[in-house]
Amino acid sequence: MLRAVVGRRVRRAVQPCDLVDYLNGRLDGDFASESVEVTNVWTRLRTATRRIRPKMAVGWALDADQQPQLQLNASALQVKDAEAALTHAIRGYFRQRLLNKPDQGKVYAVTSASTPPNHFMRSGNFTRFAEWRFVHRARLDCVPLNGSRRWGNGVKACRRCGYENETLPHVLNHCKPHFATITRRHNAVLGRLVKALKPSSGTTVRVNQTVPGFNDGLRPDLFILNEAEKTAAIIDVATPFENRYAAFEAARNGKKVKYDHIASHLRQQGYDVVVDAFLVGALGGWDPANERLISQLRLRRRYCHLMRRLMCTDAIRWSRDIYVEHVTGQAIRRRPSQP
Ligand SMILES: [Zn+2]
Repeated sequence: MLRAVVGRRVRRAVQPCDLVDYLNGRLDGDFASESVEVTNVWTRLRTATRRIRPKMAVGWALDADQQPQLQLNASALQVKDAEAALTHAIRGYFRQRLLNKPDQGKVYAVTSASTPPNHFMRSGNFTRFAEWRFVHRARLDCVPLNGSRRWGNGVKACRRCGYENETLPHVLNHCKPHFATITRRHNAVLGRLVKALKPSSGTTVRVNQTVPGFNDGLRPDLFILNEAEKTAAIIDVATPFENRYAAFEAARNGKKVKYDHIASHLRQQGYDVVVDAFLVGALGGWDPANERLISQLRLRRRYCHLMRRLMCTDAIRWSRDIYVEHVTGQAIRRRPSQP
C-alpha cells in the first residue's frame, strides 16, 4: 500500500501531499532520511518518475478525491492511455534531441517528417542488408569519407574529382564522375511516377522531351497536356540531399523558375498550368509536398501507397551504389529497371 510505504519513509502521520511528494521523488525535508524499504512497486514507480522527469513534464498531483494522479504536460492521464502517451512523449523527446544536432539532425529533419522514408525500419521490406547497413550510417553522417574526418590535418579533397571537401552530399549529388549513376537514380523515381499515371483519353504525356514550340533545350521530365480540358502540367523529378527541409524547398522553387517562361506562354493560350517538382531525397527522404502533386495528377491511390515506399527504397539503393562506386572506382552493373 502506498500510504504505508510513504509512512515508513517520513516517519509521521501521512498527508495526501506526502504521497505526491514521494512519487515525484522528493529528497529533502522528511524525505531526506535513508530508505529502509525493500524494493516494491511504489519504490520502482518513484524511481521511474525521477528518471523520466528531466526529459519531459511528467509528474504526480492530487485529484479531486485527494488521490495521486499522473500528469503529462499539466494534464491528467487516464489509466488506459497512459502508456501510449508516455511512449509518444519519450519518442518526441529523443527525436527532438537528434534534430537539434547540427550535423546529424539535418537528414532526420526530413526523413522523420513522414512515414515512407522509414517504412523498412521494422519489416525490412524491399531492403537488402547492404542498403540497411549503408542507410543508417549515411543518415547519421558516419560514412567514412575524406571530408567526414573530425580531427587532424588529413587530406579532405574528393578522391575522384579533386573537389576540396569530400562529404556525403558531394559524393551522392555533385561529384561529376558519378553523374551517370545519379541520373539512373533520378530515372528510377521518374519511372515509378510514370507507371502510376493513368492518362485520360485526349491527354498527351511526354517523358524527358522538349516542349513543342520551344527550342531552348529544356526537357521537363514529365509534360502532360490535355487539349480538351485546357490543362497542362510540367513536372521535374529531383533527388536532392536531405540538408534540412530548406534544401527541398530550394529545389522545388528552382524547378518552378526554370520552367516559368513555358508556363506563362501556355497560360496566355488559356491553359491551366501546374509547374511543380517531385522530390525524393538521396537518402530516401519523402517530401510531404509531393502529396499535392499526387492528388493533382489523380494517381491511383492503391498503387501510391506502394509507390511512395518503393521510391524511397530506390533512392537509397542507387545512393549506396554511388557510394560504392566512389570508394571502389568500379561502376556497379545493374539493369536500370531492376528495383
Ligand atoms: Zn568529387
